[in-house]
Amino acid sequence: MAKITRKPVPRKAAVPKKKAKPVATKPKAPAKKSLKAAKPWTPAEVHEVFSRFRKANPEPKGELEHINPFTLLVAVVLSAQATDAGVNKATRALFEVADTPQKMLDLGEERLRDYIKTIGLYRTKARNVIALSAKLLSEFGGEVPRTRAEIESLPGAGRKTANVVLNMAFGEHTMAVDTHVFRVGNRTGLAPGKTPLDVELGLEKVVPAEFMLHAHHWLILHGRYTCLARKPRCEVCLINDLCRWPEKTV
Ligand code: SF4
Repeated sequence: MAKITRKPVPRKAAVPKKKAKPVATKPKAPAKKSLKAAKPWTPAEVHEVFSRFRKANPEPKGELEHINPFTLLVAVVLSAQATDAGVNKATRALFEVADTPQKMLDLGEERLRDYIKTIGLYRTKARNVIALSAKLLSEFGGEVPRTRAEIESLPGAGRKTANVVLNMAFGEHTMAVDTHVFRVGNRTGLAPGKTPLDVELGLEKVVPAEFMLHAHHWLILHGRYTCLARKPRCEVCLINDLCRWPEKTV
């Protein structure tokens, strides 16, 4: 049998494999941890949080200086977009001469402006304080009224003002939400909300009645001195084991 010889097939020159072009990918943003995914607070945990606040500071006080309900109302109206320390600096001298609606009217808008000119928006605030003093005299017998609707009807006074006055002057269980309470309510997950009203209603729902009188002060002080806006001091925070903020640093 004839031997079949195969012609050697010329080998194709090896084509160097093309390197895969690196696909341009967007750098991935670190996945944002969601507070929504956090474990909901149990009533026992909320109780524990406020028990710790109470133990650390049984009688928390607001930092706005005042002498009576009227001066408290004026101080809160002046404190919009201003610090308590800045307001106190101005009102110490003011309240020595005008601690009632009548005395405030007697002082007059121009001289009032002089006392409070270190406070932001002082012109508008002076106008409001004079107008609210006049209204207190004409409609409320010179006294600060005791209902939310009546306080909110006063020039320069909104929901937060009413909540502070009702709580501090009249011992009502209201929850005033300022920038600190808003931040703490959201970060901790105790009462997340897009608006101060959401947070207020959320906190009212979860905070046990026995803590409500002081709850807003504890939360304000916690936000002002511990749960700071830029650099929260989680390492010294009383409630760091319970806080649900995914970015807490402990
Ligand atoms: S652990 Fe940090 S983020 Fe949470 S409440 Fe405390 S300070 Fe605020």
